[in-house]
Amino acid sequence: MPTLLTILGARPQFIKAAALTRAIERRVDLQWEQIILHTGQHYDSQLSEIFFEELNIPRPEFQFTLKSGERTARMIEMTTGISEVIAKVKPDAVLVYGDTDSTLAGAQAASELGVQVIHVEAGLRSFDMEMPEEINRIATDKISSILIAPTVTAIKNLTNEGIDGSHLTGDIMHDNALHFTKGLAVSKAQSVLLTMHRPSNVDSTERLKSWIDSIGGWCCSKNIKATFPVHPRTKKSLEKLYGTLWSDTLREKNIHTIDPVGYIELLRFIKISSLVITDSGGIQKEAYSCETPSVVIRRNTEWVELVHAGHTVLCPEPAQLSETADSQNGRDIDVSDLLYGNGNAAEDILEIISNELS
Ligand code: UDP
Repeated sequence: MPTLLTILGARPQFIKAAALTRAIERRVDLQWEQIILHTGQHYDSQLSEIFFEELNIPRPEFQFTLKSGERTARMIEMTTGISEVIAKVKPDAVLVYGDTDSTLAGAQAASELGVQVIHVEAGLRSFDMEMPEEINRIATDKISSILIAPTVTAIKNLTNEGIDGSHLTGDIMHDNALHFTKGLAVSKAQSVLLTMHRPSNVDSTERLKSWIDSIGGWCCSKNIKATFPVHPRTKKSLEKLYGTLWSDTLREKNIHTIDPVGYIELLRFIKISSLVITDSGGIQKEAYSCETPSVVIRRNTEWVELVHAGHTVLCPEPAQLSETADSQNGRDIDVSDLLYGNGNAAEDILEIISNELS
């Protein structure tokens, strides 16, 4: 029985693991045994525990509690810990998702020990080297042996970097969004789902205030309510900016804050909204999967096909928010363009891995 060691550490990775776990359960003929390692990068229950419960992901067999706060020290801690687990488990392959520090730590540990590294979400590029995620993506792709690219653009990016032989599948987050919204009968109303947590938007209180003022100004002018599940990183800055009554201050601007929610609840919010405003990589795609237009409050995106098709508009500066929100709010999104596949990416990935490793 081949063994796959899956490295998880951050919220989007738990969600991604749900799709592959379902595929492993469906394709018993391929006989994969999955062992999950949780690096402890996201450890609080709102960003971690809830997903294992609601998405039926097997409990991690290995779970770290990271001691260091500083990035380099954490990378060393994660890589060392993962190496020890690999030496013990002796997996046939190590699978990493996306672009977090846990992704790179997993890929580094495995490649140093000569174990095959599978990178799911290979080839994505924002071409913004100021984003730590971009460095993680490039480095992980360079040392991975099986590259699973979700889009044609991702394949082209890899080819341009001299990396051939990658595999095109759809996107597993799209698989998940379709799976968990099947049969969810809701109708859209004039409302916004808002999320932001990128350091470039929230670490400076001045920048964060500009976003809140522009988004709140637009919501008030249209008499639209925004629901805002607040990431812990953003919460820290909001408290610094507005004090303990930060949530009341935002409410006066028609922005209703809530704690981070589970995945299915989040998808429901996206589905009922007439607009998503976000800086999240995952949520801009989920907006598409849920047929909701979006404004991405960033200078760039690695999911460029959303912009080309008009499903997403980039809004690099708060001053452009009103114009971009007006252009997107309530637009019809037609997903028959199958930008991210037909919902079977995870099963395709499993077949590719089985063929490559046999
Ligand atoms: N998400 C969630 N609850 C929330 C906010 C986000 O379940 O309150 C999910 C969301 O649906 C998406 C993932 O978390 O699948 C996105 O993670 P995040 O925005 O943290 O990271 P990114 O995609 O930007 O790397």
